[in-house]
Amino acid sequence: MKILKFGGSSVGDAKRINQVIDILINGYIKKNQKIAVVFSAFQGVTDKLIETGQLALQRKLIYKDELDRLRSKHEEINHQLNHGIGAGTTDEKISELFDELTEILHGVFLVKELSPRTLDYIVSFGEKLSCTIISSTLKNRKIVCEFLDASRLIKTDDNFGNARVDFRKTNRNIANHFKKHKNLQIITGFISSTENNEITTLGRGGSDYTASIFGAALNAELIEIWTDVNGIMTADPRKVKRAFSLNSVTYEEAMELSHFGAKVIYPPTMLPALQKKIKIVIKNTFNPSFKGTYILEKEVSKNFTVKGISSIDDISIVRVQGGGMIGVTGFAGRLFNVFGRLGINIILITQASSEHSICLAIPPKQGDAARKAIEEEFRLEIFDGKVGEVKVEDNLSIIAVVGEKMRHTPGVAGAVFNSLGKNKINIIAIAQGSSELNISLVINKNDLSRSLNILHNALLKK
Ligand code: ADP
Ligand code: ASP
Ligand code: MG
Repeated sequence: MKILKFGGSSVGDAKRINQVIDILINGYIKKNQKIAVVFSAFQGVTDKLIETGQLALQRKLIYKDELDRLRSKHEEINHQLNHGIGAGTTDEKISELFDELTEILHGVFLVKELSPRTLDYIVSFGEKLSCTIISSTLKNRKIVCEFLDASRLIKTDDNFGNARVDFRKTNRNIANHFKKHKNLQIITGFISSTENNEITTLGRGGSDYTASIFGAALNAELIEIWTDVNGIMTADPRKVKRAFSLNSVTYEEAMELSHFGAKVIYPPTMLPALQKKIKIVIKNTFNPSFKGTYILEKEVSKNFTVKGISSIDDISIVRVQGGGMIGVTGFAGRLFNVFGRLGINIILITQASSEHSICLAIPPKQGDAARKAIEEEFRLEIFDGKVGEVKVEDNLSIIAVVGEKMRHTPGVAGAVFNSLGKNKINIIAIAQGSSELNISLVINKNDLSRSLNILHNALLKK
């Protein structure tokens, strides 16, 4: 069994969906290969659903226009794919879904409340709609298949927006389902549910994770992630013109690159696959003959020391300084607790060995809340002058240089700093995990594009 996943970019319009169907028929169905296929919402739909929910929350009646546009978009795609051959029955299903969505949004409008729980319910319609239309289209083309709402099978906690999977229940549900359903399953990506059957989601980009969850539960031989570029590249091709495709990366490298901004695969995807040692391959829907980038346990192809450079484009840093921190145990613990309580994700931490200052990189716009909470926590130390001013800096970016072989190769950090130094790019903070798999740099956002290209030229040659 292989699990295939097609992202929003592969199902942006009717023409692209037809391309996907060709890939399925010619690459797998005609060859009698056993597959199950996960789909994301059509391109841009999840963003639009969030926007519509927010408009309703702000009591802006144009939310209804946005909803109408979304309805027309789905109807139009359905008609283009199924004109004259059963578009009507699918229209009815689309209509039912939009009627339900209309009611929910009306509720948001009336009560002026949009909880993470309601938002998850709203965005879940994206995947339900895409999979409804695609499964009907396949049936109209005489391919025996079933729509599978994966939110029934993937069980999570109630951390709406980014729910944690209960693998014991989920694996059992998936295995049982596939014992009873032998036909091709068309699976909704991204969505899951709590024990009380409330809809949750697996985090933005989570359809990749859905594929991996199913792959691991079914002991698949391969997980194929189909997207709009030639696999994992040495950098985001939109930012670095000379980026090129890699034949293979390790699970760790893929995790590290994606954690630091390479959107091509959602970071948690690697974990279920890694546990069962299932290979993942990233393929290109628009260039099916490209053989793909393999994510494996051990690198087999021609080796590069640095495998890739990725970036998180917008971050803030919080800097805490003061002589009173030196040699004091428990200071860092208290500091991290402040972030934990606020639910602020710490992306990177650096502390000089003098222990005089700690610098934390966090998502943008959360700096002020963090500063206030830190000042509150260390009120007495600040009063005594042991902790100085807490400073926040915005408009920064993080660049991560990633590669497992960096571990055994001296001089990579030198090359990184030299190339940026020569080009007069100021590095604000540096971190290297003890795994030596990743060197991360904080720089000004204005320098991002230039820095990525300079580093790519210096470190990655085909
Ligand atoms: P999908 O809709 O298929 O899930 P995404 O938009 O989530 O696709 O991810 C694919 C995009 O990831 C590409 O279009 C590319 O711009 C971006 N990307 C960022 N970093 C990389 C990288 N290192 N290699 C390939 N693509 C990357
Ligand atoms: N549709 C969801 C999103 O846009 C999930 C995904 O595309 O993987 O985040
Ligand atoms: Mg994606």
